[in-house]
Amino acid sequence: MQHISTRGQTAAMDFQDAVMTGLAPDGGLLVPSAIPDVRDRLGAWAELDYKSLAFEILRLFTDLPDGDLRDLIARSYSTFRHSEIAPVLSAGPVHICELFHGPTLAFKDIALQFLCNLYEYILRRTGGRLNILGATSGDTGSAAIHGARGRERVNIFIMFPKGRVSPLQELQMTTVTDANVHCLAIEGTFDDGQRIMKSIFSDVTFKERHALGSINSVNWARVLAQTVYYFFSAFTVMRRTAAREVCFAVPTGNFGDILAGWYAAQMGLPVRRLILATNENDILARFFNTGVYRTGRTVPTISPSMDIQIASNFERYLFHLLGNDPARIRELMAGFAKTGALSVPLKNGGVDPLFRAGVGNTENALAIIRRYHRSHSCLLDPHTAVGVHVAEQFLEEDAPTICLATAHPAKFPDAIRTALNRDVARHAILDELKSRPARSVTLPASEAAIREYIGKHVS
Ligand SMILES: *Cc1c(COP(=O)(O)O)cnc(C)c1O
Repeated sequence: MQHISTRGQTAAMDFQDAVMTGLAPDGGLLVPSAIPDVRDRLGAWAELDYKSLAFEILRLFTDLPDGDLRDLIARSYSTFRHSEIAPVLSAGPVHICELFHGPTLAFKDIALQFLCNLYEYILRRTGGRLNILGATSGDTGSAAIHGARGRERVNIFIMFPKGRVSPLQELQMTTVTDANVHCLAIEGTFDDGQRIMKSIFSDVTFKERHALGSINSVNWARVLAQTVYYFFSAFTVMRRTAAREVCFAVPTGNFGDILAGWYAAQMGLPVRRLILATNENDILARFFNTGVYRTGRTVPTISPSMDIQIASNFERYLFHLLGNDPARIRELMAGFAKTGALSVPLKNGGVDPLFRAGVGNTENALAIIRRYHRSHSCLLDPHTAVGVHVAEQFLEEDAPTICLATAHPAKFPDAIRTALNRDVARHAILDELKSRPARSVTLPASEAAIREYIGKHVS
């Protein structure tokens, strides 16, 4: 499969080059040049376990030898604590697909375990090295560190704002003491980390000399790996309910997770609706309801991984929505960079009939956590609760709704305590972290200090 840039000014490339490239040099995002139609295979796929299904889907896109791909998938998901990888339970009117059984108890493990295995595999063959640099406010950093730990040819440097990430999230990073992992506690904010990272990446000479790469959510392999659980959970629920179509409700920040569902639907999975759920940071919900994509001020909420007002994966969807026209995307994105807004024409009063979109605010999410705990003995994390709240507004009679559960509730004990007045959200893995040795280096929030540290520690 070839991959092309949404901005049309980068030569097409194969899968492995797309993985190593991340963001296209023309500033666009890489997308597959065609989306395979798998409708004639759905019957056979419905019987497969998660890893076998992942193999069938990924081989359509990846051009890797079959044995190597099977091995990569087996290793990526052997770190999960549940034999089904993405089990589905039924709670009241919805089905909950648990995506949090990986090493850091959040759905980002599903993509980052696979991506890091893929990096190591490609680097072994090319003889290259990779030094991953990232800035995190919590979840992504720990999932990336757990993906990269102990790998050959890979180092990882993660900046986090000292004293400003939750104690649990910090421990999930700093207790990983493999020699190739560097946790940099910077004396500043998350935005300082982002700014330093962007500035370092824009210095092409430094970037190439140190083989720097990023792990952010624009990497195509991350989206691709996430398509698998849409198929897997749809098959599970269709088997249980004898329904012929399903809806998905997805708590959304960077539009990565729900975009994977859009690709699954294009491939032919019978998806009636994709229900997009945001918290108060509602740029995406507003877009689907009005056709106007306009960035606002980011406000902190109890679902911090969705506190985003520019969705880095949105450009992929926009490209497909507007007929795969790179000139149109260049024009729209240039306008967006200038004014902070862009708009698309509405058809029959909406942007896209496949989507429904809504907001679950803090009060809504807390109420859902309480109600699902009381009535369905189901403890939801605050991100998933946003998804469930919006899902309930759009239930359909004959197409059951699957809500993607993106984190284990024990990762967000404060929100659970606020909702229930009790400390019921625990996980042995997190309890045990407190007794482990932790390691991080404190550095000033200055680009020079980070450059110097990287220069000394890259291999
Ligand atoms: C990252 C994250 C999200 C949002 O996912 P996107 O792909 O950015 O839309 C939702 N919930 C949790 C727990 C996350 O870590």
